[in-house]
Amino acid sequence: MMLKKIKTAARYAAIVFVLLGLAGYALIMNHSGVQDRLVKRALTAQLGSVVDDFGGDKIDVVFCGTASPMGGAGPRGAAQSCVAVFAGDKFFLVDTGARSADKAIALGLPMQRLSAVLLTHFHSDHIAALGEVHLNSWVRGRPEKLRVYGGPGIEQVVNGFNLAYGLDYRYRTDHHGEAYTPSKNAGLVAQPIIADSVIYDEDGLKITAVTVSHPPIEPALAFRFDYAGRSVLISGDTVKDDNLIEAARNVDVLIHEVLQPDLVKTLIAALAENGQPKLAKIIDDTLDYHTTPVEAAEAANLANADLLVFYHYAPMPQNAVMDRIYMRGVAELRPEGVLAALEGTRVTLPSQGDSIIIAD
Ligand SMILES: [Zn+2]
Ligand SMILES: [Zn+2]
Repeated sequence: MMLKKIKTAARYAAIVFVLLGLAGYALIMNHSGVQDRLVKRALTAQLGSVVDDFGGDKIDVVFCGTASPMGGAGPRGAAQSCVAVFAGDKFFLVDTGARSADKAIALGLPMQRLSAVLLTHFHSDHIAALGEVHLNSWVRGRPEKLRVYGGPGIEQVVNGFNLAYGLDYRYRTDHHGEAYTPSKNAGLVAQPIIADSVIYDEDGLKITAVTVSHPPIEPALAFRFDYAGRSVLISGDTVKDDNLIEAARNVDVLIHEVLQPDLVKTLIAALAENGQPKLAKIIDDTLDYHTTPVEAAEAANLANADLLVFYHYAPMPQNAVMDRIYMRGVAELRPEGVLAALEGTRVTLPSQGDSIIIAD
């Protein structure tokens, strides 16, 4: 009897102890001074962890967007097409799809030293965040207007963004002052590209624009980067293309877009069965102007590319099952493996030797 009373008392004491603890926790968490200190500590840790070790005597590639328009952000929170390339002190963004500016900042990319943007073509999933990329590089100290390279039509895209954001440029200079948001650095400058030629050659970095096939968009471009004896080619949107394969000859890293036809057909069937026949038709149309994973593997083999990287997935794989579907038939062609890039994937090519370092 005595023992039972002691046990009951101990139980009550434990409950009171937990309740007091919860009350204390609630009291502390609702204290503005504690809240401020917690937020400051988190921000300090976040900002302090950003290290700009991109580029230098190596090429660094960081994925800031790997999705296509299909499927939205999904559980992986993917942004649309965006690849950052660093070489020497240069920093280029290849395409700026929706949400890619947010991704670039979250990944700690040094937006203040963005050299230029290269646009493969002008589909919305490659240009939607251009205004945000401009803003976020300008307010961090980009030292000149933002150059935007593209094929015929680049003036229309650049003029359109400048027109839409023109008031915003002025508001910010008026509010923050010329010292912090200088009007001389506000705005985009169109840099028209002649396809199938070297479009940039400075400080040992050479960039070549390569015509690819993404009908009816003409031209659609791929970009090859050569620096310190290392090379990377980014496909943009294309079918399996002989011109790309030729330009990618012996490249260290071939970064290729992919559309998985089994997944797309499943998506089309699901849409048609669930009252969305128009979207089903639009997605059905995409089957004829992209590259399947198997075709991308064939292209990499024909080009003798060392590492094949998939990006710009149609649709974006949202789980491990979809990841596996993307690899159907690929392992037979690329027994050395294929890298399936996600936001934050980093591929480094040191200037010495032929090593390729992959980090997530
Ligand atoms: Zn496209
Ligand atoms: Zn696209």
